[in-house]
Amino acid sequence: MYLRPTDVREANIRRVFRVLLARTRCSRAELARSTGLSSVTAGRVVEEMIEAGLVTEAAAAAAGGVPAMGRPPRFIALASRPRFLGVEIGVRETRIAALPLAPPPEDAAMRTVATPDSVPAFLAELRRARLALGLRDSEAILVSVPGVVDQATGTVLVSPNLHWTEGQGLLKGIGALGVGTVIAVQEVQALALGHQAAEGTSEDFLLLDLAEGVGGAVVLQGRLLGGTVALAGELGHTPVMSNDRRCGCGAIGCLETLASRRGLLRSFREAHPGRRLDWDGLRHQVTRAGIEPWLDRAIDAVGAGVAGAINLLGVGRVVVTGDLPSLHPDVIGRLETSIQEHSLLGRFGRVRCVAAPRRRWLGLVVAASERLGLARPGERRALHLAI
Ligand SMILES: [Zn+2]
Repeated sequence: MYLRPTDVREANIRRVFRVLLARTRCSRAELARSTGLSSVTAGRVVEEMIEAGLVTEAAAAAAGGVPAMGRPPRFIALASRPRFLGVEIGVRETRIAALPLAPPPEDAAMRTVATPDSVPAFLAELRRARLALGLRDSEAILVSVPGVVDQATGTVLVSPNLHWTEGQGLLKGIGALGVGTVIAVQEVQALALGHQAAEGTSEDFLLLDLAEGVGGAVVLQGRLLGGTVALAGELGHTPVMSNDRRCGCGAIGCLETLASRRGLLRSFREAHPGRRLDWDGLRHQVTRAGIEPWLDRAIDAVGAGVAGAINLLGVGRVVVTGDLPSLHPDVIGRLETSIQEHSLLGRFGRVRCVAAPRRRWLGLVVAASERLGLARPGERRALHLAI
């Protein structure tokens, strides 16, 4: 394929951006090594990114406060100026933060509110949060949505645990706030983008999130699998035979009814009649008692569902985020064994299953970089969300 000089330039900028997302900061020499660019090209790209306000360069503080001999080393990092209003809609809590086009800092200004139960209440909360965060001119509002989103029309098609978000009202309402372009990302897709960026990995993986809901996303050949309607990896709504629990999506027997927080609490109560625990109580119970049969059955149901996905996709790496891995140190190993037993890959190779933190903020930042474009920060590209 013939590449125009501008294509090469944009690809180089994106390479530098990706390395800085994963490494937080590095020297010019490290940057050239990690991107595979010549030091001259890497230097030119860095100068351009500094001019565009995408990166900053600063002298490294000398160790122990002792001045270093000679010229102090200088480090390059992505600029930390907040540019976006980020919104993570959760089943119970919603977090709102001012985000830079960089890994969100630990101390990012943030507000956490109980998730409202209607569009008007949600928009009112968003207005208040924006004022409190003091973010006057954001370039875009980045929204992670738990549910199936049609990005072309800004419609939440289905949200099993937050039905009030369904339809066009939510994203259209956010667009009408005038906070900037709305970029909506299905939440597990955001987790996959965040994981990929933080690890700087080019490996294929299936990300499985087990929390209030159960969802998945797939990265194949470096790219997130999916179209404008992100459905690939939605393992939570796969039926489990002989499970007769009704799911929030309207179906009966979904994996989510066994492996979500609510599902696990219900299984515990069924196994221990008369004992009612909240989530923290359940965690203490599992820490003390280990993986009891009720939990083992839930893990095995997840393992069987994941094995089906692995057989279909040919992916051998499973990244697990959310609540289930935090229940007990043995959970990930047990899940890995289950997937190994149920998948064809397990007959001759090895399935790898790892726990990972949830990186939704970073995923939203990556989605913004892709949809708004990096190469010409002043000139916005055609945007995908027509609202
Ligand atoms: Zn379901």
